[in-house]
Amino acid sequence: MLGLFVLDANILAIAGPRRRNLLFRHLRALDVGLKARGGGLLVRTGDPVLVLKSVVRESCATSVHADADVSAYARRRDRRVRAALEPEVDVDLHWGCHVHRPGSVTSRSTGQTHLVFTPYHRAWSTAVRNDWPEPVDIEVLDPGRDDVPDSEDIPVPAISPADRFGPGGEEAADARLLDWLDHVDTYDLTHDLPADHSGTSHLSADLHFGTLSPRHVVDVVGTATAGRAAFVRQLAWRDWYASLFLERPDLVDTAMRADLDGVTWRSDPVGVDAWVAGLTGFPIVDAGMRELAATGWMHNRVRMITASFLVKDLLVDWRIGERHFRRELVDADVAQNAGNWQWVAGTGPDAAPYFRVLNPVTQSRRFDPDATYITKWVPELAALPAADRHAPWEAGPLELAAAGVLLGDPLVDDSVTYPTRIVDHAAARERAIAAYSAARAAI
Ligand SMILES: Cc1cc2nc3c(=O)[nH]c(=O)nc-3n(C[C@H](O)[C@H](O)[C@H](O)COP(=O)(O)OP(=O)(O)OC[C@H]3O[C@@H](n4cnc5c(N)ncnc54)[C@H](O)[C@@H]3O)c2cc1C
Repeated sequence: MLGLFVLDANILAIAGPRRRNLLFRHLRALDVGLKARGGGLLVRTGDPVLVLKSVVRESCATSVHADADVSAYARRRDRRVRAALEPEVDVDLHWGCHVHRPGSVTSRSTGQTHLVFTPYHRAWSTAVRNDWPEPVDIEVLDPGRDDVPDSEDIPVPAISPADRFGPGGEEAADARLLDWLDHVDTYDLTHDLPADHSGTSHLSADLHFGTLSPRHVVDVVGTATAGRAAFVRQLAWRDWYASLFLERPDLVDTAMRADLDGVTWRSDPVGVDAWVAGLTGFPIVDAGMRELAATGWMHNRVRMITASFLVKDLLVDWRIGERHFRRELVDADVAQNAGNWQWVAGTGPDAAPYFRVLNPVTQSRRFDPDATYITKWVPELAALPAADRHAPWEAGPLELAAAGVLLGDPLVDDSVTYPTRIVDHAAARERAIAAYSAARAAI
């Protein structure tokens, strides 16, 4: 067996440096693991079809085994690989990154993936898993050269854990899973609190890259407590979005709800820049966007709040936010990211209703009651009383002055310490509902 990883320039080009780094660290660890078994990892850069043709020729391989993926790009690539190699060489795709093979849990009435999550989850929980290949003894070949790219040195701010995703490879991922077992029993109570670092597992990147098998995670965690059951349920969301994408790969840029595909979005480059930079004047939104920029990760509740802010408060097309997250997130995954953006935008399957607009201040007070998360990422508000850190414009001039906070436009005035909010939420909410309603009326 020869281990091969093809670096595809098209995929690398849309991945931010943090995700690329993590990938390179995983490849290095895989190489070390294969070396311990007498071989090594061959890394080649180029068009996967051309690379595979030449590696198959050089190594006289009779079969190619690879992990399958639901994105339209991956499926087109895999079809091209098959067409180039078969029938002389067997091409075998495996679904190692899902609990159930995408498309295998379907509704009895439609034969398709359920369009509502709850019945999908019910069927998913009792479905029989597809068999995995039996382990066999194999000789691991040594490619005789080292082309594993080195990861770059990216500075991490002192306020974030040095590197949440730690060392690469399966062993390190297993250690992260073991560590998570100390916290999972309270997941049902803690998963919505962004200030609680141990409130969620941080396993999404390992699940995406395949350094952790979700089947293994489900088996190890089980459903014995409310926390464990709630956690395993989240893994069903992953399988659900993957299955929906297998049937509808166009969901990456087409609203699933046809009646909401025609929303007239605003062009607001200044607003988008403020959103990306964490300078919207809404502390919880800014905290989330700064966490993303600094670490490549963001808490799920805050992903919902920041995404909703872009789509509903700024009325900017969800696809713009989806592309930004896809580039920046270390766990970025086409199906999970677009599926969740559509959920927030109200355009997807079983999505939040389009007229339900998250209020960033209410969300902040509810899920970050002591403003601990805000203070970590928006330290310029730290001296304000906690209650005012959610909405600094509500603080009186004396409180602001005492805390050294000067609100204004930081691009215009150097002495400004924090931006004035860039929209009025109540007015923005009305504008969003009107735009969505107009799209529906036009059908
Ligand atoms: C706008 C937006 C974009 C997102 N983009 C991605 C993405 O590109 N990749 C990605 O893996 N997740 C994405 N998510 C889902 C979720 O935010 C992350 O999976 C989660 O925050 C990862 O942190 P964790 O591992 O600590 O999660 P935990 O809370 O510990 O959850 C355990 C696992 O369940 C899965 N999971 C949890 N929530 C979801 C969900 N809503 N949808 C699908 N799977 C879920 C993840 O694999 C996660 O690792 C997105 C959510 C939103 C709102």
